[in-house]
Amino acid sequence: MLKAIGASLGIAIGRALVIREEAVEINESKVKDSKIELDRFNNALQESITQLQKVVEGVKEKLGDEKAEIFEAHLCMLEDPEFIGSIQKKIENDKFNAEYALQTVAQETAAIFEQMENEYMTERAADIRDVSKRVLNVLMGIKVASIADIQEECIIVAKDLTPSDTAQIDKAKVLAFVTEIGGKTAHTSIIARSLELPAVVGAGKGIREIKDGDLIVVDGEEGIVIINPDKATLKDYEKRREDFIEAKHQLLKYATMKSTTVDGKSVELAANIGSAEDLESVLKNGAEAIGLFRTEFLYMSKDALPTEEEQYNEYKSVVEKMDGKPVIIRTLDIGGDKKLNYLPMDEEMNPFLGYRAIRLCLDRTDIFITQLRALVRASAHGKLKIMFPMICNIQELRTAKKILEQCKTELKSEGVVFDEKLEVGIMIEIPSAAIISDILAKEVDFFSIGTNDLIQYTTAVDRMNEKISYLYDFYHPAVLRLIKTVIDNGHKAGITVNMCGEMAGDTNLIPVLLGFGLDEFSMSASSILRARKTITNSSFEECKKLSVPVLSFGDADEIKGYIKTSFKA
Ligand code: PEP
Ligand code: MG
Repeated sequence: MLKAIGASLGIAIGRALVIREEAVEINESKVKDSKIELDRFNNALQESITQLQKVVEGVKEKLGDEKAEIFEAHLCMLEDPEFIGSIQKKIENDKFNAEYALQTVAQETAAIFEQMENEYMTERAADIRDVSKRVLNVLMGIKVASIADIQEECIIVAKDLTPSDTAQIDKAKVLAFVTEIGGKTAHTSIIARSLELPAVVGAGKGIREIKDGDLIVVDGEEGIVIINPDKATLKDYEKRREDFIEAKHQLLKYATMKSTTVDGKSVELAANIGSAEDLESVLKNGAEAIGLFRTEFLYMSKDALPTEEEQYNEYKSVVEKMDGKPVIIRTLDIGGDKKLNYLPMDEEMNPFLGYRAIRLCLDRTDIFITQLRALVRASAHGKLKIMFPMICNIQELRTAKKILEQCKTELKSEGVVFDEKLEVGIMIEIPSAAIISDILAKEVDFFSIGTNDLIQYTTAVDRMNEKISYLYDFYHPAVLRLIKTVIDNGHKAGITVNMCGEMAGDTNLIPVLLGFGLDEFSMSASSILRARKTITNSSFEECKKLSVPVLSFGDADEIKGYIKTSFKA
């Protein structure tokens, strides 16, 4: 049995599909018979083309034409006579082994693409590397399962999954996933929750005991993985799986209720989404708003920067489907653990402290303006609000607002109609912003507290690192004090204060946050019904009273103990 971090609720029982990314070493050597070597390469090339054609078909059918574009681009590369011809010449004329010839040409070609002025061409470098790796794996007999290509029911077991891997998961086939690394608030875990897919992350090296085809049980609440369980354990977990499904069913009665406490205080229960596709679950779970639309997933689903028109259509579709309910759309927050294959960024020592989110947008104003124009245009179709991520000082906020104003002026002169009262808010996820929130509050319409990052920056604990996940604590008194400060500062300035970090969905903390005065709780759609049950069973006056002592404790465990014994909901 492995004990790790429960990242997404639910019980799954199924066969393991182990995805290993082995580091391969390629040696340079000369072959005696270049004809045989060339045949070996051509066969591997053909096999890779066949593989890719199947992937394209499968992805088109399951996930739509757009998601298949990237694989179609890979196919074109394998059919490119110049690229393939150079490899073949290296084998035929210079008598190099196929692996070495392929790797050298791929590296040279990728380097040429990277140096080009044209952004589209520089973005192709990652594709060249990717597709060459596929051929190399075939050449070397390495079997690598591709997430987009899963044909049978399985539980994915992998060292790590990138957020874009996770976004490609087909729920009809994948029952759950288990990873060696990662934390509860890594984006891969967040996507698992939005897909309502049981997940255990940060299972460490023990995960290597799991073999392809092993029967495994994944308990996403307790963070447990059981490999080849005995009959009694299997029976026990089958029962728990049924109970979980039944309890979920019971919660459905909260879908149509208002988020009002027993003594009449109403708050807003909102959902976090990554694309318009998530809306089905949002509406099913009765969300009253979208508190965070992470637009970076729209960028990740493409193989080039999305155009203004593509973005406008996506944002418009979300606000229209929400039918007048508020929708907070966050501008691009790329960097940290979220990467774009087509936007190469320099390696950084500390990517979470580096070139990400608003920092990148204020540097790449071309990308920023395209998004802002799309957002402003979409505001004509519903109650759209714009939110800037990772604001760390007042200059960033003012510069971002100035660019937004320029976009509005431009659109107006083009005769475009939009919401003149379009609200603008910021995420409070950096301690410096929380500390000066009294000043920032005067220049925005709302705050949204991003606890996922606020915790990591306040406590200096990488949210992705399972080795120190025991230090990543929602209950740290410093975090709770900062949250209270932000809420009070926001209210003093007359603005609403929301929370869209994962903490907002923690049913033990909801009564405390309610007592602190939080106005909106935004979370994965799958957490909404449990949260509403907690809110409708709470008394606001009691929460207010009981939350005061929370701020006087110095130890997270004391706080946990106090909450457990004092709050009844
Ligand atoms: C946060 O930091 O709390 C947040 C909601 O943003 P993200 O998880 O996308 O960094
Ligand atoms: Mg964040």
